[in-house]
Parts: sequence; structure tokens; C-alpha cells
Amino acid sequence: MGFFAWGWLSDGLVSGLQTLVFFIIIFTIVVMHELSHSIVAILNGIKVTRIILLPIGGVASIEIPEKPIVELMMSIAGPFFNFVMAFLCILLLSMVIPVAEIPAMLTSLEEPSMLVSSAQGILVLLLWINMMLGLFNLVPAFPMDGGRIFRSILALFIDYTRATRIAVNVGRIIATVMVVLGLFGNPWLLVIGALIFLVGGQEYQVVRLRHSLGELTVAQIAAKRMDYVNGDFTLREFLTQIAKPGVEFYPVVNESKAIMSVLWLEDLRGLGQENLDKPIKKLARKPDVVDGKLLAHDMVTNLLAKEFVLVIESGHVIGYVTPEHLNEIARFQGILKA
Ligand SMILES: [Zn+2]
Repeated sequence: MGFFAWGWLSDGLVSGLQTLVFFIIIFTIVVMHELSHSIVAILNGIKVTRIILLPIGGVASIEIPEKPIVELMMSIAGPFFNFVMAFLCILLLSMVIPVAEIPAMLTSLEEPSMLVSSAQGILVLLLWINMMLGLFNLVPAFPMDGGRIFRSILALFIDYTRATRIAVNVGRIIATVMVVLGLFGNPWLLVIGALIFLVGGQEYQVVRLRHSLGELTVAQIAAKRMDYVNGDFTLREFLTQIAKPGVEFYPVVNESKAIMSVLWLEDLRGLGQENLDKPIKKLARKPDVVDGKLLAHDMVTNLLAKEFVLVIESGHVIGYVTPEHLNEIARFQGILKA
């Protein structure tokens, strides 16, 4: 959930050590903002597998629970941290200068990185960065923190999918304004606006997908027909006898028909002739697997993140799921429910 105003912060920099210190300070604050989200998540029993620092990608891959109250607390945590930090800075600054002079110090920030040369300057800088990050992240443009807060408040009263759609649409209106402003000034607004469009839309798709899958298990939605290939076949045999246009994945089996790995057609691209007599099993990859008994809607982000996942039930492979397949199933379910 890390959208931040790098552009505003990096305007008018001087070079050298001060710039380095300046960026280390910003980086630390950004990391701590993200950690605040993660801590609240962990306290609510949500597994945090990684912290995403850049606003590019990944937002949709965080497994966010459909619990509006938890999401609300998680989303507020980041900006809340910034405002607590800003308050502490004001408190410390008020010991050395009159509080009334602080706004003037903030508005005269022309060379932010120059500030790192004094303790008082660093406090002013910290105050400024935290105010900027806190306020900017509160812009209600889903998937920014403010947009998530907006969605979770909506979801307290209306259906989660509808709440997400409204939040995404509001986010897109704001993103359009950002892009227009970006065209005439700050290019970073252009980037952030575009990301809001992209990631917001992706996340809406995930929510819609999840809801259309209802109570179906992964086993129920798995594609059952597969074209197996014996791992001892050579690449030449595979290409001449087995490979079919349109089939991208081939589970590789051993003599007892157990699936060992998966051969991806795209992995064969660019292979030289010297590989023609190699056995297929040497060119195959270890597949991702998923337990067929799990509910499909709990696995949506996981399944979408992988190109191909084998579905296992009681130790046996019963089928596979690809993102395309998942989208098709959801579409069918959508028609059934309409
Ligand atoms: Zn945040």
C-alpha cells in the first residue's frame, strides 16, 4: 500500500552526502509507514509474506481479508504512523523554536536536502515528509490508503463487490485529475495516476472473481483433461509425436504414471538442436501445486499469480488451473447467477 510523493520530495535536490542522508531518511519513513500496515495485519492474524515498497505492482497480490473493520484499521495504520511522527516532531521543535514559526519553516523548503546539516533542520524535514506522506496517502483514490479506508467504510453498509466498484471508480476520477495535472507539471502524478487506474482495476477483478466463485472448491473448478508426456521421451519425440498447437503445458509422468514435473512450451523456445536427444524430464520444471479441497475464492490471488497450478486431492493429481481457466469458470458462474 505504498503510494508516495517521490516527485514532490525529490524536487530541487542538491548533490552529495546531504542528498544521500535525505533519501535514507525518506526511505526509512516509507519503510516504517509500510511496517505499520504490516504490524496491524499481523496483530489481526493475517500472514504478511512481503512488504511492497514501490507503488508498482504487487498491491493486488496482498491477501487482504474481506473484513471491513480489519481493513479499515490496516489502512489507517500507515498514515496514522506519519501523523504521530509529525506530532512528535512538532513537540520536539516547540522546545527550541516558537510553534508559530514552524509553518513558515515548512513553506520555505526550497532545498529540502540542505536541512540535514542541523538537528533542527532534520526535525523540520521529518515533519515535512511525514505530513506529505500522511496526507498524500489519505487521498481517497483506491488502491491508495485513503481509497482503502473509503472502500472499507462503504463495505460496512453495502455489498463488498459494489463497495469495491464504487471505490475504484472514485479512484479513477481522482487518477484522471492526477494524470491531467501530471501532463502540465509533475510527471510523478502521471505515473501514480496511471498506477491507480491499473492496480485499482486489477483488484476489482479479483474481488469480482472471488465473489462469483461462491463456495466452489479448487477441485470443482479444476480443468480435468490433460495431455501427459512420458519423461523419458526425448525432445525430438515430444516435438514430432506429442506437442499440439494451443497446448502450453504438459505434465511429465514417470513409468508409474505419477506426475513428476511440468513441461512448458515456452521453455523450449530458443533451445538449440543439441537438446533434441535430451529426455523431456530434464527440460521440465517443478510445478506449483494446490490442495483441491480448499475453497477457490480463498485461493484467487494465489491462482492468478501463477501461470499453471496442479490440483492435488488425497495425494493424486486431479487437474490443473490457469488464470484463463479461472476467469472462464467465474464467467460461467456469473451467467448462472444472473
Ligand atoms: Zn500506506
